[in-house]
Amino acid sequence: MEFIDEKLSAYTEQHTKPESELLQRLNRETWAKVIMPRMLSGHLQGRVLAMFSKMIQPKRILEIGTYTGYSAICLAEGLTTDGKLYTIDINEELESIVKRYISESLNANQIITMTGDATKLVPQLNEQFDLVFIDADKENYSNYYDLVFEKIRPGGYIIADNVLWSGNVLKNENEMDVETKAINNFNNKVQKDSRVENVLFPVRDGLMVVRKLP
Ligand code: SAH
Ligand code: CA
Repeated sequence: MEFIDEKLSAYTEQHTKPESELLQRLNRETWAKVIMPRMLSGHLQGRVLAMFSKMIQPKRILEIGTYTGYSAICLAEGLTTDGKLYTIDINEELESIVKRYISESLNANQIITMTGDATKLVPQLNEQFDLVFIDADKENYSNYYDLVFEKIRPGGYIIADNVLWSGNVLKNENEMDVETKAINNFNNKVQKDSRVENVLFPVRDGLMVVRKLP
């Protein structure tokens, strides 16, 4: 389901700075060679993530769900000079493409890739994060929220992707599949959480932006 009119969507992209040459290549190679290329953030969302990151100026970023590294490269654009971004993915087959593109990116030496199940790896990270991007298996969104919450600095941010799940969140609860239910539960959990303020941005497939209250 497309949320905005095709022509408005094209207009939006025409009035958003283009992707770098590197990101364009990664976008093309992912669509040509990797399964489920729709998962890649892409031009508009990539620029949105880079812009949020530049506004936050994070020292530590955690990304859950690297895929081919597109969003990691975008988020790293906003890191402070001494900043670091950790990105986790369970799929080791993606490692070579991810490393190839990250090594060419401007923030190459600030990005740490980790391969494994994020539910196991996140608890092992001894860092305080300014920004966490949740974009892995939808069934674990609430789990990831709980796992990262104490690791976020007061005033820090969580951004979760695909929270509108192609519009499936509007279905009756008894018609929702497991992933839709999990995303709907996550959205409700955030909305009820008095420790945070949150805005659901209807960008692409929905970005939930959460700020942990200081
Ligand atoms: N953030 C990327 C897209 C991520 S797609 C972008 O915007 O370009 C979701 C990724 O989550 C997939 O690559 C998948 O392998 C990964 N994933 C799924 N379950 C996971 C888990 N339990 N731990 C870590 N990664 C997982
Ligand atoms: Ca996504």
